[in-house]
Amino acid sequence: MKKIIFLLLAISIVSCKKSEKKAEETKQVDVKLHQLVGGSILVKKLEVFSQDTTYTGQQKQFTDAYYVISHPKGNLMWDAGLPEQLVVAESFHEPSGVFAIQRPDSLANQLKTIGLKIEDFKYFAMSHSHFDHIGHASYMKDATWIVQENEYNATVGDSVKVKNPSLTALTNVKKINGDYDVFGDGTVVIKYMPGHTVGHQVLYVEVAGLEKPVLLTGDLYHFEENRTNKGVPSFNYNVEQTLESMDKFETFAKEKNAEVIIQHSPIAFEKLEKLLKK
Ligand SMILES: [Zn+2]
Repeated sequence: MKKIIFLLLAISIVSCKKSEKKAEETKQVDVKLHQLVGGSILVKKLEVFSQDTTYTGQQKQFTDAYYVISHPKGNLMWDAGLPEQLVVAESFHEPSGVFAIQRPDSLANQLKTIGLKIEDFKYFAMSHSHFDHIGHASYMKDATWIVQENEYNATVGDSVKVKNPSLTALTNVKKINGDYDVFGDGTVVIKYMPGHTVGHQVLYVEVAGLEKPVLLTGDLYHFEENRTNKGVPSFNYNVEQTLESMDKFETFAKEKNAEVIIQHSPIAFEKLEKLLKK
């Protein structure tokens, strides 16, 4: 009899553990990630992406991805590519002679490919406010723009004389100072990583079904070698701060065992595409 009671007890413990595990599995939040191509950028003078002459005479092809994160509590768009005026047949060689730029299609058409419309977004955030990340931002006027307060002040604050119309169109603003958990459950977190601009940020996403969480770099790095060599572009807001952010980023990426995606890298784009299609 004792044996039977013990056996029953053991079975009930096992089944209890099983149901706990099941509850944990079903608890996983259904977060989806899509990447879209907001532009192609041929860098004709790669030396602007270094503090020294390392890349003098070199060129490099960049992509310009933006991202859609679908969470049960709403959709977030991360970054906004190049402006739609650049949806043209031939790349535009801008006057400084550094970039040849082009966008493949309009925001509305690109969203259609993933079954969404411009009005479907609750939140909008950008890694930072450079021209190749704010392209179609004005369309996001009904969403809440989540932005670091210092970045906001530097781009559309009261003291700014010439404000970018893509950004002034955004009137629902949530100003943040530091890291921000977008949906309150830890699955989608904006991480403050200043240096490229005053309020530059990166995005951490726990995508359902993916083995590792994804960490979108913004412009903390522009290509793979930047990451290994800790290369800082000549036009960054603050070099020291950038290097500190790189350290902070690498520590966080390691702690989370994250898949690091360099947003301007065509190699990273392909890598993420394969992961998301699995
Ligand atoms: Zn930038």
